[in-house]
Amino acid sequence: MSDCLFCNIAQGKTKSRGVYEDEKVFVFEDVNPQAPTHVLIVPKKHIRGLREAQTEDAEIIGYMQLVAANLARERSIEDGYRTVFNVGPLAGQSVFHLHLHLIGGRRMTWPPG
Ligand code: 5GP
Ligand code: ZN
Repeated sequence: MSDCLFCNIAQGKTKSRGVYEDEKVFVFEDVNPQAPTHVLIVPKKHIRGLREAQTEDAEIIGYMQLVAANLARERSIEDGYRTVFNVGPLAGQSVFHLHLHLIGGRRMTWPPG
């Protein structure tokens, strides 16, 4: 999708601070970080969001979580981090290409805002 921001970032057409890449996902620093670690894990396949995900997307959704766990280990934030899908506009989803937030490196409160 040429008009999708995260497709363009994953393909290197739009600049970002990349932190990890493999054949399935691209990971980059969030431009507006909410914690010392705030990166976005995006599938290279365009999926609009969790709401639109299909059974065939189950593997990539699980894989995104494992990529987050590996990055958390590498960054030594395993004492506490969050992996978050914002789903739909009321939850704050603003980019409609599936992305998993990995947020950590500080104490976090519950319930979230
Ligand atoms: P959402 O609100 O959809 O769950 O998350 C979208 C995230 O993408 C936000 O945290 C926002 O800061 C980030 N973001 C939006 N535009 C850009 C961009 O152009 N570059 C980067 N690196 N992050 C972006
Ligand atoms: Zn896309």
